[in-house]
Amino acid sequence: MRATAQLIRRIDDGDSGVFAELALLYRHAGRAHVIGFTGSPGVGKSTLVDRVVSRFRQDERTVGILAVDPTSPFTGGAILGDRIRMQKHFLDEGVFIRSMATRGKFGGLTRSTADAIVVLDAMGKDVIIVETVGVGQDEVDIVHNAHTTVLVTIPGMGDEIQAIKAGLMEIGDLFVVNKADREGAAKTLRELRFLLQMSSDRYEASGWTPPIIDTVASADQGVDELYRAILDHHHYLLEHGRERLMERDKMRARNQILDLLKENLMERTLERLGGVQALDGVVEEIVAKTKDPYGASSELVERILGGAVN
Ligand code: GDP
Repeated sequence: MRATAQLIRRIDDGDSGVFAELALLYRHAGRAHVIGFTGSPGVGKSTLVDRVVSRFRQDERTVGILAVDPTSPFTGGAILGDRIRMQKHFLDEGVFIRSMATRGKFGGLTRSTADAIVVLDAMGKDVIIVETVGVGQDEVDIVHNAHTTVLVTIPGMGDEIQAIKAGLMEIGDLFVVNKADREGAAKTLRELRFLLQMSSDRYEASGWTPPIIDTVASADQGVDELYRAILDHHHYLLEHGRERLMERDKMRARNQILDLLKENLMERTLERLGGVQALDGVVEEIVAKTKDPYGASSELVERILGGAVN
């Protein structure tokens, strides 16, 4: 557990020295069921995850949790988050919780999350839960790392319904309306059902229609249904959705290799140029408007790659 904690810390720090360890671990990963929970701050993701983790533990499955917060660049917040989240499962060796807040250089949170998943997977966790804040592009990218994606919303969040409509719909395998004890739950459920119906052809073709589950996480209501739906989706992926599982793994591998390429190329490029400070001259010229950043970057790429290509 200590080694895992250290590795994840180094990943979050953007230490490219971890690649050697990751390369070794990668071969031992690929067994875990990766579940993503996403939704705006305050919708009750942590409470829900906590409850779902208890169900997994009752079934004697080990769990790794990555709480990913793209909005918090400070470790302090992440550590505090860990402590709060840990309380219930603190003494349970079958649960490993870490927060990530990307202090890394290149590659960003999507990459570091993918790497941390590899570590937890190789560590032997049966289930890995990735909890992300928000419903923006970052979260969509992060969620691409998951086999099963749970979108969490609450009554009366019209904006979220819009976001779901605008693209998140595609990535949700399960929809949760939490805080169903609040006014407007029935309306939100209706809206979601309506949205899903519009894609019913696609769902029928895929063999999986996302269930919409209403929960009151704080009172542990609806959590059994959610847990069962998560297991059902995993079962679906294993039994009938092999192609889909492969697709997701391919998508993950593609994103990983692209991110790594970006990071590697950027590092090597800066190395060749002689460090970031080698850009000082160009920067001055751009500021003085004797050069523009578009042409300047093409020139730099040409200078570095030109020779290699020819
Ligand atoms: P997160 O930011 O999405 O992780 O949300 P939290 O899990 O931290 O929950 C935010 C607040 O909502 C906390 O005070 C929870 O106790 C509360 N909460 C969570 N689920 C429910 C629910 O189903 N009903 C109500 N009324 N409150 C809830």
